[in-house]
Amino acid sequence: IVQLYVPLNWFGTYYRAIQKNFVDMENMFDLLKEEQEVIDAPGAGPITVKKGTVEFNNVTFGYQPEKLILKNVTFTAPAGKTIALVGPSGSGKSTIIRLLFRFYDVETGNILIDGQNIKTVSQESLRRTIGVVPQDTVLFNNTIKYNIKYGRLTATDADVIEAARGADIHDKILSFTDAYDTMVGERGLRLSGGEKQRVAIARTLLKAPQIVLLDEATSALDTQTERNIQDSLDKMCANRTTIIVAHRLSTIIHADEILVVQEGEIVERGRHEHLIGQDGIYASMWRQQLDKDAIAMNSIESSATH
Ligand code: ATP
Repeated sequence: IVQLYVPLNWFGTYYRAIQKNFVDMENMFDLLKEEQEVIDAPGAGPITVKKGTVEFNNVTFGYQPEKLILKNVTFTAPAGKTIALVGPSGSGKSTIIRLLFRFYDVETGNILIDGQNIKTVSQESLRRTIGVVPQDTVLFNNTIKYNIKYGRLTATDADVIEAARGADIHDKILSFTDAYDTMVGERGLRLSGGEKQRVAIARTLLKAPQIVLLDEATSALDTQTERNIQDSLDKMCANRTTIIVAHRLSTIIHADEILVVQEGEIVERGRHEHLIGQDGIYASMWRQQLDKDAIAMNSIESSATH
């Protein structure tokens, strides 16, 4: 009993950590099938996604029934458009993403993709449709090629290279001793935060999903790296329905709609200019960000002159 209990418990803890932190859950999901909390409906067929429209209709949800985390969340992410979620820590942004990936089932309201309730389709097909760029990408102790190819295991070497180029990491890989055959991960070459993010982008380019979920890293990359990555992200998100959990407002100025989440409710919505004009919560978050950036700029400038 003890022998059985230990690994199962470990898996359980690990699985919950993944659910909570949204760390590479796509990868880990395969490894942890046993631990599924959400069960497919009997005879659930694959989802059919033509356009990739995502709808939340009056979704109310709590991890425990007595504590609601989301209240009456309603929004539409039209096919090919970008929706950004912003709001204070703990307001429920990542929960919205987790529900779309169906880590939990909603009891009140529903979530539809191209009109199909995600509760009624197979989870495997749902997750095939959705690409995830998590905050922190966990690499396998394997070659860089394998790590990119994980997005689509049937991909050819040429496909892998094309994806790496799209993610702007190809030249970097060629500079490694064994190029695409270089071992990476904990026991190989350690990649930087920005490089790991590019691996996640390359994987997603290979997977070519209709829907992309992007959990922006909270840990700051340096400004130049961030700007470079933004180009790759833009490429990846073009013509795909994209939902971004944004921590830096500068990345979502061009989002088609920004949803401001506070204590589980959408309290403001609209494009950047519209929300600035409203002079509400978003506008004050924006001013705070500008102040922070100005302070950072000043300290860079003053350290440069000394
Ligand atoms: P952040 O910007 O810090 O990532 P967030 O807006 O994404 O925050 P969520 O991660 O969605 O917030 O969390 C919303 C609330 O739900 C928080 O109060 C959090 O503590 C709680 N919560 C998250 N996961 C669980 C869980 N597995 N069980 C119970 N409560 C949870």
